[in-house]
Amino acid sequence: MKTDQSQSLFARAQQLIPGGVNSPVRACKSVGCDPLFVKKAAGSKIQDVDGNEFLDFVCSWGPMILGHNHPAVVEAIEKTLRDGTSFGAPCPLEVELAELVINALPSVEKVRFVSSGTEATMSAIRLARGYTGRNVVVKFDGCYHGHADSFLVKAGSGVITLGIPGSPGVPADIVKNTISIPYNNPEILEKTLRDTKLDIACVIIEPVAGNMGVVAPNPGFLQTLRTLTTELGIVLIFDEVITGLRLALGGAQEYYGVMPDLTCLGKIIGGGLPVGAYGGTRELMDTISPVGPVYQAGTLSGNPLAMAAGAATMRQLAQPGFYAALEEKSARFAQGMTMLAEKYLPGQTTLNRVGSMMTAFFTSGPVVDFDSAMQADTARYGQHFRQMQEQGIWLAPSQFEALFISAAQSEGELATALEKTECSFKKLA
Ligand code: PLP
Repeated sequence: MKTDQSQSLFARAQQLIPGGVNSPVRACKSVGCDPLFVKKAAGSKIQDVDGNEFLDFVCSWGPMILGHNHPAVVEAIEKTLRDGTSFGAPCPLEVELAELVINALPSVEKVRFVSSGTEATMSAIRLARGYTGRNVVVKFDGCYHGHADSFLVKAGSGVITLGIPGSPGVPADIVKNTISIPYNNPEILEKTLRDTKLDIACVIIEPVAGNMGVVAPNPGFLQTLRTLTTELGIVLIFDEVITGLRLALGGAQEYYGVMPDLTCLGKIIGGGLPVGAYGGTRELMDTISPVGPVYQAGTLSGNPLAMAAGAATMRQLAQPGFYAALEEKSARFAQGMTMLAEKYLPGQTTLNRVGSMMTAFFTSGPVVDFDSAMQADTARYGQHFRQMQEQGIWLAPSQFEALFISAAQSEGELATALEKTECSFKKLA
């Protein structure tokens, strides 16, 4: 594979940008490569600056569920662009996307748009703290909720990938208000939430974890969480930055039938432009300024281009049969992966899948929480990643991330990806 242009850009970038990247996992360190620089993307494919083409299973870390440059999304952005890029005043598209989000997400009665998933989660916990008058946030080991101070405690995503437990620069005084407990452990959950000394404002969870690799909630776990938080007056926050609009139009809350008090969104609702959102019951949301005293604001919040891209994406997702077709494709692909793993690497891999998000862990499993995810053989994943990249398949450059299926991938392309996986697994065996 020719990589001269990427190498030269990476050398320049490293002089200018820390690690040459604007988000750490993109550096590909944990899989033993240098990053490829992308020139363009369309549909299911991504092309680098050296002209190599890849079938994309990263989907920009989730947002591109329709594939890249979907014509309806491009048209909406182009049309909006002609009227200006930012107004600093309300615009009709904000109302349109808010209506779409509220109609889609069963627990959301009011929504506030921000510009990233991190902003959504940090604003949601401020709201929960302001509403309850309590300070402590409970999260789960291996879940990632963005890079705000309160969340960098046993966090997933790049934090696991880089093998760091948290981050210097986060004051101990802040971290003392975050309690991280194991995912899928109802006993520890109940014991923690019932400890009245703890002053718990909220519990935040990825209802399907995507940032320690994909880990599904055990049957009943989300329901137990809902029952306990309701009983104890603790605000339940679903971080649906990945799962929102991915598992169903109504996200994981629709998929599992469990309703949170607050929902955080990002990725797909921006259709590939920078957006986040948080929403919930009218009572909670009306605690935010300017109605209530909890302050949160944003210069580019509700940006017209992002609103247009999000609304165009949501209209495509709302078409009848969209999620059923995505599920069918994803299930077939996962079945193929499982068969290959059983043939070449018996007892050495675990495939976790919920809808169109999945992770093949290089461990015997089961993978149900952070500790079991950490058993995965990351060196083996790195080898698999490199072997797949050589064959034109774009996977996440970390074992602890999700593989995403998009609507743009054809059955033929997925079959080809399985053939390439077979070549890679044969070499790993
Ligand atoms: N929450 C979850 C579940 C995420 O996966 C991410 C990012 O990957 C975030 C929050 C943070 O979103 P952003 O990177 O847009 O700040």
